[in-house]
Amino acid sequence: MTDQYDVIVVGAGNAALCAALSAAETKKKILVLERAPEEESGGNSRFTAGLFRVAYDGVDDLKKVMPDLTREEIERTDFGTYTADQFLDDMARVTEFRCDPDLTEILVKRSLPTVTWMREKGVRFTAAWGRQAFNIGGRFKFWGGLTVEAVGGGPGLVEGLTQIARKTGIEIWYGARALSLIFDDAGVHGVRVRHEGKTKEIKGKSVVLAAGGFQANPEMRARYLGPGWELAKVRGTRFNTGDVIRMALDIGAAPVGNWSGCHAVAWDRNAPEFGDLAVGDGFQKHSYPWAVYINAQGRRFVDEGADFRNYTYAKYGRVILNQPQQFAWQIFDAKVKAQLRDEYKIRQVTKVTANTLEELVQKLDDVDAEAALKELKAYNAAVRQDIPFNPNVKDGRCTQGLAIPKSNWANTLDTPPFEAYAVTCGITFTFGGLRVNTDAQVISTDGEPIPGLFAAGELVGGIFYFNYPGGTGLTNGAVFGRIAGASAAQH
Ligand SMILES: Cc1cc2nc3c(=O)[nH]c(=O)nc-3n(C[C@H](O)[C@H](O)[C@H](O)COP(=O)(O)OP(=O)(O)OC[C@H]3O[C@@H](n4cnc5c(N)ncnc54)[C@H](O)[C@@H]3O)c2cc1C
Repeated sequence: MTDQYDVIVVGAGNAALCAALSAAETKKKILVLERAPEEESGGNSRFTAGLFRVAYDGVDDLKKVMPDLTREEIERTDFGTYTADQFLDDMARVTEFRCDPDLTEILVKRSLPTVTWMREKGVRFTAAWGRQAFNIGGRFKFWGGLTVEAVGGGPGLVEGLTQIARKTGIEIWYGARALSLIFDDAGVHGVRVRHEGKTKEIKGKSVVLAAGGFQANPEMRARYLGPGWELAKVRGTRFNTGDVIRMALDIGAAPVGNWSGCHAVAWDRNAPEFGDLAVGDGFQKHSYPWAVYINAQGRRFVDEGADFRNYTYAKYGRVILNQPQQFAWQIFDAKVKAQLRDEYKIRQVTKVTANTLEELVQKLDDVDAEAALKELKAYNAAVRQDIPFNPNVKDGRCTQGLAIPKSNWANTLDTPPFEAYAVTCGITFTFGGLRVNTDAQVISTDGEPIPGLFAAGELVGGIFYFNYPGGTGLTNGAVFGRIAGASAAQH
């Protein structure tokens, strides 16, 4: 047994570090347990682009988060607004009205105040010009409600939070894997942990669990997400294997949410089994709204232009996983090349090019070339060329008469060179998890809070179902991490 801590936080990603900083506002002895070694610490949060979805009514709100915005930057940017109502609508729509209304309201209403709180702690943010804005006639226009990103992306975010935590006097143990909770009839009193080759019992007045989902565990993926999910690649950390969810379930915590659902995207077909911090999110291939998708049978299988990328990318990984041999090719022509995101330019990319469609289909590995050529020609013939192409709005430039339509941004493939990129399914995080109340207390299967146990971030269920509005994972971790830390400190 070690000394007693006021609050023990399990995990050292965004949710955990926000919880620790929040707890440290009123309590002194805070311990963070991180399973990964220091060089791989920070969980999925470190793999992100650092984008935070925040509700704001105009640039004055954004200046609270980004006080460094210059007058010139403000003048050349149309930030628009992304109101709380829009954020709530987006959550309701993409989750098919399943998201927990109380937790969602907190997520939305506290998004701006929480990110402002992080800024006040010393985390730095900037506008996501490179990712979420189009330059129209020299002026940047933001779209899709996603405006704020951490300086330095995910690595910058984790580095910033870790440094602030250290300066605040928070203790962090790396290579410290939580194994089980110390629990009796009165509640949770600490954590059993494997640290430096030894199993230790650490006493704490309260415990915050913020150790991610189970996406890095192929056995749990197959068990809960369904057959075939063990074949997906993991986009982020290899350490989120669901054992902390399991350890809470073992003491009677209630599972909730979309246990068969997850966030999964188009990811390079030849990417490694787990994320690679040197590449970060570069294996993702998110410009498919300007592309045509073809599977192994040479067939289109999804509406590439159903909605803005932000609202489809997280559910299309599953669609790709369900294709024969779990892969697909994204095909572009030269007209949209300038619009391809940066991740298409990385060295570690599975790409072929050709000057004719006939030549291109021959180069698509594992694809029925004849069927593909027929499909691409049928697609070209179906494009409503009378409707102008406009990437900034859902332009309604669609196909007509195809069994699988393309609803927006349908361009003919007619201008060489043609490019094609091979993708498979990359899983980001799982949606099912622990039930919490609005104070981030973990709820038991009997419906009561488990004394001394709190949770935040990816391992909480009930917030995301089926799909997810981009940039909400970090906001979710920060908002509920902050609440969990404060509640745990009060316990
Ligand atoms: C490539 C990629 C890009 C993304 N981009 C974005 C984005 O731009 N914006 C956005 O909002 N979201 C993004 N996401 C999603 C986002 O990463 C997550 O929603 C969010 O980071 C989850 O934060 P968390 O703190 O809950 O979990 P994590 O950051 O994953 O932290 C969990 C921590 O728990 C530790 N842990 C696990 N098991 C144990 C154990 N037994 N004992 C001790 N510690 C343990 C892990 O090592 C890790 O440090 C992205 C994800 C990926 C993979």
